[in-house]
Amino acid sequence: MPMNVQAIPSLSDRVNQIRMMTAKIVNNEILPNENQLWATRRDGQVDDEERSQARTLRHEIQAKVKQAGLWAPHLPEEYGGCGLSFLEHAYMNEILAYSMGAASLFGVVAPNSGNQKILLKYGTEEQKKKWLVPLTEGKLESGFSMTEPDSAGSDPRSIKTTATRDGNDWVINGHKWFTSNAKRADFLIVMCRTDDPEGSAERNGKMTQIIVPTDTPGLNIVRGVEVWGRTSDHAEIIYDNVRVPVENQLGPTGSGHQAAQDRLGAGRVYHCMNSVGQMTRAFDLMVERSMSREVHGGLLETKQFIQGFIAESYIDIQAARLMTIHCAEKMDSGIDARTDISAIKIFVPEAYHRVVDRAIQVWGAAGVSGDLPLAAMYQSARTLRLADGPDEVHKILIAKNILKQYHSGDSWDFGN
Ligand SMILES: Cc1cc2nc3c(=O)[nH]c(=O)nc-3n(C[C@H](O)[C@H](O)[C@H](O)COP(=O)(O)OP(=O)(O)OC[C@H]3O[C@@H](n4cnc5c(N)ncnc54)[C@H](O)[C@@H]3O)c2cc1C
Repeated sequence: MPMNVQAIPSLSDRVNQIRMMTAKIVNNEILPNENQLWATRRDGQVDDEERSQARTLRHEIQAKVKQAGLWAPHLPEEYGGCGLSFLEHAYMNEILAYSMGAASLFGVVAPNSGNQKILLKYGTEEQKKKWLVPLTEGKLESGFSMTEPDSAGSDPRSIKTTATRDGNDWVINGHKWFTSNAKRADFLIVMCRTDDPEGSAERNGKMTQIIVPTDTPGLNIVRGVEVWGRTSDHAEIIYDNVRVPVENQLGPTGSGHQAAQDRLGAGRVYHCMNSVGQMTRAFDLMVERSMSREVHGGLLETKQFIQGFIAESYIDIQAARLMTIHCAEKMDSGIDARTDISAIKIFVPEAYHRVVDRAIQVWGAAGVSGDLPLAAMYQSARTLRLADGPDEVHKILIAKNILKQYHSGDSWDFGN
């Protein structure tokens, strides 16, 4: 079933046009070809012919995306993107995400997209030319290397990987894991504790992000960590006296923690809009199935358990979508939205999890099969609850912000 996208009266003509053009490509080019496009991701044998057909098809769709002026919505035109504003991009994402993997055909692929944003904000002109432009053109691949097995990822300031100044070089030593895309990457942005006597003494000011080409001696990829029972490219890496020139440092020494926050802040809104798009797909699949599957003398749609699933899922999607849009609008108008960002980071993946769970139940065994996108969505929804900052950390932040306000004598204004 194609995604039903109509113009939204309260949005500008431009945003509606972006949404309609995106829906046209998703509905006409991607949905009918989902199995073929991602054939290489399926377990089992995929022959060379299938692989090459999938590649050709992906390139054809990417060419149509570029022609429609929708390539790399997260980047300005001068760096190869289509220069959408924050809200335009957020509204586009819920449509893109209707088909899992479609974003990559629009030039948005994590972790490259997050790295592109960091390079854009913190990179020198030289770094942008060397790393950002080829990354956007698809000539390079990248990864973001922050999480470590021996320190808590939910408190990034606790990382142990060090970068020590030696003349005009940084020398990096440490142990990371879950560095996504590392095996394919040409360079990694590595979060380090910088040991610089002239640097800041403050806890946040000890972190610096450094660009490390993956062929630098001493960078050893140990393995791809198995995730959800499958081999993956979320790599474990040892950095053993990895030496890179100081020019590879991103932004001033000590700006790494802020850069990581910048990467995640807007990213969380995009991720939530992605989840809303995927919930819509799961919802469509669930309703469609309930209208055609006959059990115990009647269609599923006539059973009240199933009607309950439909109603509860409708409520989850509406609530998740409106919370995310409210947060995005606040951010766009420059209002402090940190409490809202944490709230959507918790609520939306949970709602996504519930909607997909019900859709799987309605489909029975087919729901967990590789014939439908539901199983992959389920794993993705679960993973989102611990990535981008685990839920508990965000709950602490919400409570802290609220209590601070009440301690200062004000109650919470939910209207703003
Ligand atoms: C598929 C996947 C891809 C990833 N890709 C990347 C990547 O590309 N680059 C990268 O650097 N990282 C990546 N990560 C890592 C991810 O960002 C971290 O797993 C996440 O930040 C959590 O860190 P941790 O695993 O060290 O958990 P920990 O910090 O050890 O936390 C474990 C649990 O402790 C609980 N907890 C934490 N703090 C509190 C508290 N204050 N109170 C109560 N409970 C608490 C939470 O339930 C949390 O889930 C990826 C992870 C996955 C699963």
